[in-house]
Amino acid sequence: MTNLDRRQFLTRMGAVASGAGASVVATDAEALWREPREMPPEAVGILYDSTLCIGCKACVRACKISNGMPQEIPAEHAGWNEGTWDSATSLSGKTLNVIMAYRNGTMETKDRETDGYAFVKRHCLHCVDPSCVSVCPVSAMRKDPVTGIVSYNPDACIGCRYCVYGCPFGVPQFDISGPFGRINKCQMCSHLLAEGKIPACCDVCPTGASLFGTVAGIREETERRLAAAAGSIYSFPRGELGGDRPANDAPVASYIADVYGPKAAGGTQVHYLSGVPFEKLGLPTVPDRSYARLAEGVQHTVYKFMIAPVVALAGLAFLARRNTAKTHGDGIES
Ligand code: SF4
Ligand code: SF4
Ligand code: SF4
Repeated sequence: MTNLDRRQFLTRMGAVASGAGASVVATDAEALWREPREMPPEAVGILYDSTLCIGCKACVRACKISNGMPQEIPAEHAGWNEGTWDSATSLSGKTLNVIMAYRNGTMETKDRETDGYAFVKRHCLHCVDPSCVSVCPVSAMRKDPVTGIVSYNPDACIGCRYCVYGCPFGVPQFDISGPFGRINKCQMCSHLLAEGKIPACCDVCPTGASLFGTVAGIREETERRLAAAAGSIYSFPRGELGGDRPANDAPVASYIADVYGPKAAGGTQVHYLSGVPFEKLGLPTVPDRSYARLAEGVQHTVYKFMIAPVVALAGLAFLARRNTAKTHGDGIES
């Protein structure tokens, strides 16, 4: 890699960039990727099963309360919502977790792509190899080596917003309402976990659509659900995987035969099951490998040509989001 001349480097970066959104990256660029990070063995995560979600938004409310976040009423709602209902429509500096809806045609059937609808919950996915941690110049973003939770230290943050541009999932948001501004994102309710509790969104979810557990346990649970026959009755755990709450005994929906998260951008600790294609839910189509591997892998070469690594990473993240914008044209709204 040290022998790359400028033309070779730009050619390889172009090959990588044009492959963003596909799982295959030009062989010529292989040498630019550093070694992947491993999932901590005790990592914790959340399984969100879209087919169980009823769109009640109890998780949004509980998230606000447990994290001390203010109510949010978008300007377009101001005419009819006079402060009575938190109606956030997307992640923002005031909203760490949002429920959105996929709608198509007559919207008659839940979890169906055509003439159907489905819900999706958006918050930080707690990546195995997080771009936000990689690009932060002052280590304000940190991944816990045991739980794998990606947290944010406002005292260390200098407000550069590199994490906002570097995250391929569009998660970190900058809140400009305070005197200095600050980044906000889901930290998997680490403060509650420290007290022996579970994340607020999973705690209040009435159906088990949001389920807390170890990532290893979540993987096994997703395999069980995908193996169950559609229409058969399944005891869906609620709150915490392996917890003692009564299960939600309900019919198994027709899942698409895939899980979003285990491979996305190097893997995430939040996994999704769905009855409609993930891109229809607005989940970005990203490569299997983490952008952080590329950004750090080319770091010395990039600096050689006086380009900050975050520029390369932010460009790749932008391409992933643009690709997603092209693919979910049926409408994803809150
Ligand atoms: S989803 Fe974005 S903010 Fe969350 S850990 Fe991954 S890169 Fe960081
Ligand atoms: S884990 Fe906590 S901070 Fe994250 S979405 Fe759920 S309630 Fe909000
Ligand atoms: S609380 Fe559960 S069912 Fe209600 S919107 Fe949130 S994830 Fe869906």
